[in-house]
Amino acid sequence: MNIGQWVYKRAHTHPERPFLQEDNRRYTNREFNERVNRMAHALLKLGVGRGERVAVLMGNCSEFLEIFFACAKTGALMVPLNVRLAVPELLYILKDCSPRTLFYAEEFSEKVGEIRAALSSGDMPVCFRLGGSDLSPDPPLAGVLAESSGAEPLPAEAVTLDDPLFIMYTSGTTGQPKGAVLTHGNVLFGAINTVLGYGINKTYKSLVTAPLFHIGALGAAATPVIYAGGSLLLKTFFSATEALRVICGEKVNYVFAVPVMFQMMTKSELWPEADFSHVHFFIAGGAPMPVDLIRQYQSEKGVFFAQGYGMTEALRLTSLDLEDSIRKAGSVGKEVFHTEIRIIDNSGKEVAPGEPGEILVKGPNVFAGYWNVPEATAEVLKDGWFFTGDMGRRDEEGFLYVIGRKVEMIISSGENIYPAEVERAIKDIPGVKEAAVVGMPDPRRGEVVAAFVLLSRGSRLTEEDLLAGLEGKIAPYKMPKKILFVKDFPRNATGKIMKHELKRQL
Ligand code: AMP
Ligand code: MG
Repeated sequence: MNIGQWVYKRAHTHPERPFLQEDNRRYTNREFNERVNRMAHALLKLGVGRGERVAVLMGNCSEFLEIFFACAKTGALMVPLNVRLAVPELLYILKDCSPRTLFYAEEFSEKVGEIRAALSSGDMPVCFRLGGSDLSPDPPLAGVLAESSGAEPLPAEAVTLDDPLFIMYTSGTTGQPKGAVLTHGNVLFGAINTVLGYGINKTYKSLVTAPLFHIGALGAAATPVIYAGGSLLLKTFFSATEALRVICGEKVNYVFAVPVMFQMMTKSELWPEADFSHVHFFIAGGAPMPVDLIRQYQSEKGVFFAQGYGMTEALRLTSLDLEDSIRKAGSVGKEVFHTEIRIIDNSGKEVAPGEPGEILVKGPNVFAGYWNVPEATAEVLKDGWFFTGDMGRRDEEGFLYVIGRKVEMIISSGENIYPAEVERAIKDIPGVKEAAVVGMPDPRRGEVVAAFVLLSRGSRLTEEDLLAGLEGKIAPYKMPKKILFVKDFPRNATGKIMKHELKRQL
């Protein structure tokens, strides 16, 4: 039993029901299963066997999910890459997981060209391009697929629920990304937890607009709805007005998005006339959802928000029922069915209701570990308990509130940024002595990066110089939106920079 069987089952039981639609493409369950089989045959022909990595650099499209399920059927591991990462960041990941193949969408040809220039030919995965011109040095994916048949059965592979299915890189506290390895079983239980928590069924039509290379879209918007028999509407680019048009025009009844996206929709010119009477509910995840915004949707549009809390390493951990969404606004709810949560203090003791502590989680949804870094895995996985690094508390009724992070992390438009990775990139610029990065509140993105910089003696670097020095080294969303030059930093007794003091200065 493995996740690849989901698409076969759907094709077998309801062949003509819709699976997915995307701009000008629509596939039924039968068609999608055939496309997955064709992709799986192509992988086998390329010599991608069980346990081998398949990197993917593309936005939301049918092929993304075809590769996902083809990997599931063949036992390969998909490595979805964040398309917003800068080339040095992508290189780090590719070296870390050494994929045999890289499938990329045409719009990222330039990035792939730079990757090719930087990697030795032995380290370079075999590349296939999705769409585009004949000028590319890489063959089109369509060519490989044309040589395979979707009707031909696949050789029986003993892929089980314990097999790894994908590696999703999350930025790390030390500034280097770590690859979280998720198994077929993690995805199955992630889906069951969400389906049970929210009552998802085959009438659900999900708008997948958050990027599938993040766990929110893959784990909340896509896989539970596929498992429950519903259908997906894929959109690569997000504009609030376009989203409103699609949600209302296509009668989408289930939308997962980060809070910023829901915020932007209320500012769209289509908001006053938007009719959400067909919507079951919306889900906000990835970052705290402002309580005012939950109330605004409820009072102006009669739409409820199902709150949830989740992460790459463990998928969804909690859900807040619709009937509690106003009464308990601000809470992320209670643990999902097959998941246990504990909150502990610094001595490892479980805290009393109301008391803050670190959130620990256990269950079949908890990941298998970090790729290639057993030490990092051992630090966070103990006796089956995953130490999330998030701080939380429960109220008397057992509802969980996420109140912060043990380790500093900035969340900007749903993308996680660890200060250490930005600080390192700034310090790499000649003429910089020291840098400290903190989050600065931002009405649109939640938070943005602010950098305090101490220059070396005699250095005359300007803000523009620093930004130019960071260009192409870190992803655009990690770029400082504010730079302040300082003569020294506020420090504590041990010499550590006091970030809360910097935040206060902002
Ligand atoms: P990621 O692994 O990139 O999906 O990020 C997961 C992190 O986002 C969690 O560890 C939390 O710090 C944060 N997060 C996710 N959902 C929520 C939520 N509903 N409320 C507050 N923080 C959240
Ligand atoms: Mg994380």
